[in-house]
Amino acid sequence: MTTMLEQYSDIVGCEVIDQLHQLVKPLKNISVAHVNSTRQGGGVAEILHKLVPLKRELGIDTEWYIIKGNPDFFKCTKSFHNALQGNMVEIPRSMLETYEKTNAENSEKLKSVLEETDIVFIHDPQPAPLLHFLPKRKGKWIWRCHIDANRPFRPVWKYLRNFTKDYDASIFSLADFAQELPHRQYLIPPSIDPLSEKNIDLEPREVEAIISEIGIDTGRPIMLQVSRYDTFKDPVGVINAYRLTKKFVPTLQLILAGGDASDDPESKTVLDEVHMAANNDIDIHILLLPANAHRVINALQRTADIILQKSIREGFGLTVTEAMWKGKPVIGGDTGGIRIQVVNHHTGFLVKSPEGAALRARYLLFHRDKLREMGEKARSFVKDNFLITRHLREYLTLMVSMLYGSGDRIELE
Ligand code: UDP
Repeated sequence: MTTMLEQYSDIVGCEVIDQLHQLVKPLKNISVAHVNSTRQGGGVAEILHKLVPLKRELGIDTEWYIIKGNPDFFKCTKSFHNALQGNMVEIPRSMLETYEKTNAENSEKLKSVLEETDIVFIHDPQPAPLLHFLPKRKGKWIWRCHIDANRPFRPVWKYLRNFTKDYDASIFSLADFAQELPHRQYLIPPSIDPLSEKNIDLEPREVEAIISEIGIDTGRPIMLQVSRYDTFKDPVGVINAYRLTKKFVPTLQLILAGGDASDDPESKTVLDEVHMAANNDIDIHILLLPANAHRVINALQRTADIILQKSIREGFGLTVTEAMWKGKPVIGGDTGGIRIQVVNHHTGFLVKSPEGAALRARYLLFHRDKLREMGEKARSFVKDNFLITRHLREYLTLMVSMLYGSGDRIELE
């Protein structure tokens, strides 16, 4: 039987897989835990669904725990998210008490395992205080921030820093997001899984069937943004960009494809704003997809002519890399992680406004050769930089350095 890892050799080459097997040798008998706040929806869950089984296959005893909280808890953590991405938000004391109490309760439930685990990865602010409630922990604890924390709202960061400063290390997606913290900080950009349902090659017949079931006319150009309904993803800006482009390409259709992450209490309001902005335009398709609609998203990304990710803030847009892997250039917001994902004018375009996005969309729609050429470059850029095998290698290296000291050389055979 072919193992999961062997299946990646066809894509990345067997040396890459050999290297993973070598790197994991000093980690064979350790236990690892990942903790976040949702099993479905959003990039963190998307990554853990693959990273966890791959670590297990490499022989590391890896578990994934989800903390539980009530709607007030998630309202509070959503405010943290907004504040870390730069919004000025006042968070009432009572909400912070809910946040801390929820973490205290979760720490009680997870105490017996987390105190004994050798390496614990805590993802984002939601479970960050767990460490504070488990002072007898034996292992190394690492805070993994997936958020664009380039210019956080200071009072909120100051509060969160009380919890994150005691970690043994933290991970940010790029240097711009790193914070002043009294421990080692690692830079690890996220990745996509080329073999997941979201990214595997699909038969043209399946793509066609999926698209026609949704009621999209494949004979006319399609603009697409796949994203949770969140103001930072700027769905209304996408509608504006579509309208400006449609002046020159009257047959254009727009698809906004999103679901809602179970830890996001604001998506309903944003969805209402999107419907209002769409104003019953029959060429705007606003999809509310179930969390497991991976093949639908795959088919949409393969079908679309123009792919936008017009975020105003973005830690790292998995959707950008997913589209590029399908040979599509991406028109992305000139912000955060998108700046390392899209090489401006080569694998897509970085834009600051709906007008900018429309200008680039129009250019690509009228220059199909260029669109294809940029798409090919986009796929190869993802292959070299943003596949899960690179991500796994960096996690393994980090773990070796946490356990054995980063000054030592890691000898590979
Ligand atoms: N996604 C999904 N269904 C949706 C919207 C998004 O499965 O309705 C996926 C998307 O394909 C990507 C992830 O969720 O894999 C979103 O990650 P990203 O980093 O782009 O944004 P986040 O939601 O983490 O801010």
